[in-house]
Amino acid sequence: MKSIIKKLKHKVIIIGSGMAGLRAAVELAGSTDIAVISKVFPTRSHSGAAQGGITAALGNEGEDSPEWHMFDTVKGSDYLGDQDAIEIMVHDAPRAIIELEHMGVPFSRNSEGKIGQRPFGGHTRDYGKTPVKRACYASDRTGRVILDTLFEQCVKGGVKFYSEFQVIDLLFRDGRCYGAVIMELSTGEFYEIYANSILLATGGFGKIYKTTSNCFSNTGDAVSIVFQKGLPLQDMEFVQFHPTGIRKHGILISEAARGEGGILRNSKGERFMERYAPVIKDLAPRDIISRSILREIAQGRGIDGQDYVHLDLTHLDKETIEDKLWEITSFARLYGGVDPVKEMVPVQPTCHYMMGGIPTDCDGHVISDSKGTHVPGLFAAGECACVSVHGANRLGCNSLLDLVVFGRRAGKSIKTWLKEDSEHIEVNIESHIISKIDTLLSSKGKEKLSLIRQELQQIMTDNCSVFREETGLIKVKEKIKELKERYSHIAITGKDKIFNMELMEAVECEHLINLAAITVESALYRKESRGAHYREDYPERDDKNYLSHTLAFKDGDSIKIETKPVKITKFEPKARSY
Ligand SMILES: Cc1cc2nc3c(=O)[nH]c(=O)nc-3n(C[C@H](O)[C@H](O)[C@H](O)COP(=O)(O)OP(=O)(O)OC[C@H]3O[C@@H](n4cnc5c(N)ncnc54)[C@H](O)[C@@H]3O)c2cc1C
Repeated sequence: MKSIIKKLKHKVIIIGSGMAGLRAAVELAGSTDIAVISKVFPTRSHSGAAQGGITAALGNEGEDSPEWHMFDTVKGSDYLGDQDAIEIMVHDAPRAIIELEHMGVPFSRNSEGKIGQRPFGGHTRDYGKTPVKRACYASDRTGRVILDTLFEQCVKGGVKFYSEFQVIDLLFRDGRCYGAVIMELSTGEFYEIYANSILLATGGFGKIYKTTSNCFSNTGDAVSIVFQKGLPLQDMEFVQFHPTGIRKHGILISEAARGEGGILRNSKGERFMERYAPVIKDLAPRDIISRSILREIAQGRGIDGQDYVHLDLTHLDKETIEDKLWEITSFARLYGGVDPVKEMVPVQPTCHYMMGGIPTDCDGHVISDSKGTHVPGLFAAGECACVSVHGANRLGCNSLLDLVVFGRRAGKSIKTWLKEDSEHIEVNIESHIISKIDTLLSSKGKEKLSLIRQELQQIMTDNCSVFREETGLIKVKEKIKELKERYSHIAITGKDKIFNMELMEAVECEHLINLAAITVESALYRKESRGAHYREDYPERDDKNYLSHTLAFKDGDSIKIETKPVKITKFEPKARSY
C-alpha cells in the first residue's frame, strides 16, 4: 500500500514551468514563499519549442498599431475572442517585449539595431489589407531564449523548484483549492503540497491526436483534473491544426517560413492559397490554410496523389534560410529528409494548440460559471487556460504574448489575494488518488495501455480534427466509452518505484480519454462552423444561435454543455475573408 510520505507547505504553488508559469513566478519572486512544480525539468517545458516569435505592434519594420493588432486578433478568432481581454493583451504587448529584452532575451535585430520583426499569418495593417511585420523573434528559437531567460530570473529570485514531480490530484475543500498530491518521479514517493494560492499553468493537450507538434508531456493533466472536480472547461471544441507539420512526424515547420516568403504548392506546382485567400495568400490564418491543404488533397492535388503538399523555400536566399530559419531547416533535413535550400518540404496539418481550457477572467482567477464567479485561491494561465483571447482560432505568435501578459497578471492578482487571505492554508484534505494508483499497480488486467492510447489518437484524428460531422463524432463518443471500460482493465507491467514511466503514462492516458470526450461533446453541441471548428454538416457560421462560449461541466458520468456570452466591445462580427 502506497502512502503520503510527507506534507509540504508554501504560500504559493505554481503547477507548470512553461513560459506562463515562469512569468508568474518572476512576478512573485522575492515577495513571498513560492514553489514551482513541473513534471519535466523547467527548461524542457514545451514553451522552449516555440519557434517563430511573439507579437507586439512595435512598428520597428513599418507602421503598426495595437488597434490593428486587436482587429486582426478578433477577426482571427472568428469573433469568439473576448474583446476586453484582447484589448488588454495587445496594448500591453510592447511593454511586455521591452521588459523581456531588459531581462536579457536576445532578440534578433534589424539593420537599425532595433528588435527584428517578421510577418505571421493573419497579422495585417489597415484592417486586413496588407501583411505587417509584427512578430518579434530570436532566429527560429524564440521560445527557447525567452524560457531560459525567465528561468534564470526565477533562480536569481530564489524560486523553489520541484522538478520532475508530477501533480496527480488537486486538493479541494468547500469549493476552494488548497493544494495538490504530487509524485516524485525519481523515487515514486507521494507528497501532499498545500498552499494559500495555486496557479495552474500545465499547457495544452495535443496528445489526444496521433499527429501533433506537441511534446510527450502535453497531456492536459490539470485541465482534466479540474473538470473531474466539477469545474467547467471552456470552448473545448476549438483545436488548432497547424498547416505545416513535417509529413508523418507532425514536427513543426514554423509559420515563420511563410513569413520569410515560403509558398505552399500542390502537385501541379500551383500556389493554391491564391484561390482561398486572394489578398494575403500563404499568410492567411491557420484554420483557413489547414482546410485549404486538405481540400487540395481531397480534390487529387496532393503530391503524387498522396496526403501532403509542398512548402517551397527554394526561391529564398540561402542566408535567410540558414540564419533566420536555422532550426526548422535542420528539422527538415533530419526528419523530412530534404534540404529546404534546394528542395521543397513535404508538409501536412498537425495538431498544434488548444484554444479552449480552464476559464479565467483577465486577472487569472479561475471561474466556476457563466457569471464569472471566482474559485477562491485558484488561478490559471497559459495554454491550459481560456481567457479567451484566441476565441475559435489563434493567430500565430499570439500565444507567447498571452503567456507573458496573462502570466504576469495572474502573478499580480495572487499578490493582491495574498494580502487579503495570507494565513489561510488548510491541511489534511483527503484524496483517493493513492488508492487508485495502488489499484493500477496491482491490477492483473489484460488490456494494453499503449493500444488504448493509440486507438484514441487514431479515432480523434479520423473524426474530430480539421473537419467534423455528426456521424463521425458519435462514432468517437462510442469508442471513448469502450476505451474507458478497457482502461479499467489495464495492467502496469513495471512495478519499479524509480522513474516508472509506464505508471505515469497510465495516469496521463486517463486524462487524454477524458479530454477527448469533452472535446467531442463540445464539438457535437456546436452545430455551426467557426474558426478551427468546421462542421461539414453545418458549414456556415451561425451568429444567431452560436455566438457564445461553451462551458462543459461534469454531470455524473455525462457531460453537460452550457453557454457564456462573448464580450464584444469594438468590432461587431462580420463575414471573415482574407
Ligand atoms: C513546436 C511549437 C512551436 C510553437 N511556436 C510558437 C511561436 O513561435 N509563437 C507562439 O506564440 N506560440 C508558439 N507555439 C505555442 C506555444 O509555444 C504554447 O502555446 C506555449 O508554449 C504553452 O506554454 P505554457 O506555459 O502554457 O505551457 P508549457 O510550456 O507546455 O508548459 C507546461 C508545463 O506544465 C508542466 N506540467 C504539465 N502537467 C503537469 C503535471 N501533471 N504535473 C506537474 N507539471 C506538469 C510541464 O512539465 C510544463 O512545465 C508553439 C507550439 C509548438 C508546439
